[in-house]
Amino acid sequence: MFAVPGEKLAEAEEFIPSEGAYEADGIVYAASIGSVRYDHDERTVRVVFPKRAPRFNVVNSIVYGRVAQTFDQYVVVELFPYNTKRYRLIPPSKYAVIHISNIRKGFVENARGEFGVGDWIRAKIVSIQKKRFIQLSTEGAQYGIIKAYCSFCRRPLVRKGPMLCCPRCKRSFKRKIANDYGNPKLPR
Ligand SMILES: [Zn+2]
Repeated sequence: MFAVPGEKLAEAEEFIPSEGAYEADGIVYAASIGSVRYDHDERTVRVVFPKRAPRFNVVNSIVYGRVAQTFDQYVVVELFPYNTKRYRLIPPSKYAVIHISNIRKGFVENARGEFGVGDWIRAKIVSIQKKRFIQLSTEGAQYGIIKAYCSFCRRPLVRKGPMLCCPRCKRSFKRKIANDYGNPKLPR
């Protein structure tokens, strides 16, 4: 199981939060992005990100992040993880940009039609200028949204072809979706 920060993992009565997890009001949540590991003997739950973290500060590195803002011509991505003890390689900037020309192959009319604020994405660094201005690309089947929530009711969205659909309020959204949306494979 793949989790993103804030995702509910268990009741605190059932599992104790370990690495990458925390408890609030009797519920255990993910504090990190990664794979969820339940230890039924120790009654702990942790969220594990691969030990060999992506090399953030190198062009062609694969990065993970959350869409922070969307504009007509580009989107701003908050890179994750950032500035934590666990990761030695820290991106030169907390934020990166995906220009409309780097979203997908072919013509894209508006970047807002490809990503929503709060979407979790996998992308590739295409350039780093002045050691801090990072440009990302989501061109290619493995790049794009790996997890997203309905902007109206916050339910996890379900993939249907090129669309992401909300099972509750039935709204659907056209998006740049990664081919392993929903249960993404993380780098080893
Ligand atoms: Zn909804």
